[in-house]
Amino acid sequence: MRSVVGVLALQGDFREHKEALKRLGVEAKEVRKREHLEGVKALVIPGGESTTIGKLAREYGIEEEVRRRVAEGSLALFGTCAGAIWLSREILGYPEQPRLGMLDVAVERNAFGRQVESFEEDLEVRGLGPFHGVFIRAPAFRKLGEGVEVLAELSGLPVLVRQGKMLASAFHPELTADSRIHGYFLQLAGL
Ligand code: GLN
Repeated sequence: MRSVVGVLALQGDFREHKEALKRLGVEAKEVRKREHLEGVKALVIPGGESTTIGKLAREYGIEEEVRRRVAEGSLALFGTCAGAIWLSREILGYPEQPRLGMLDVAVERNAFGRQVESFEEDLEVRGLGPFHGVFIRAPAFRKLGEGVEVLAELSGLPVLVRQGKMLASAFHPELTADSRIHGYFLQLAGL
């Protein structure tokens, strides 16, 4: 599975995602430029700072190339936290923030309160069972389109959603030793 799985490595906790994938026996490739997407069938977009990731992805032509490949159905995406924000159609309160915009949700940044920097909560993930969620200035998904399926919720707010071959989590599965959600993503990508 070498090089068909990529991790966007512009900013954020991409190393932790590589480790999570390594536990599944996958050596993921770091994607820093448009050319690095060559042959990639599944791309993880890490947590970090969504504004920075969005700006760099646009500047390096990665946004455009990812959009093209997702539209033709040849690329699966998994965004965590900032990565999930980047995928979203709308970012509430930040209409100009650069983003891919292909996941049919409106995302609210820092939805659980800016003052609550981070917290952990046990979640129930559809199809997977209990999962320990690590939340860091986490967003939540709102105004879900028809094609968007909710896989986990916290306090009534969707925190893990799927639309076709796109998966987005408000929390950080890469910060636990549990790689089941990464495994689910690879399955979704047909790998
Ligand atoms: N709140 C951050 C943002 O809006 C995301 C935080 C994270 O990825 N842990 O970009």
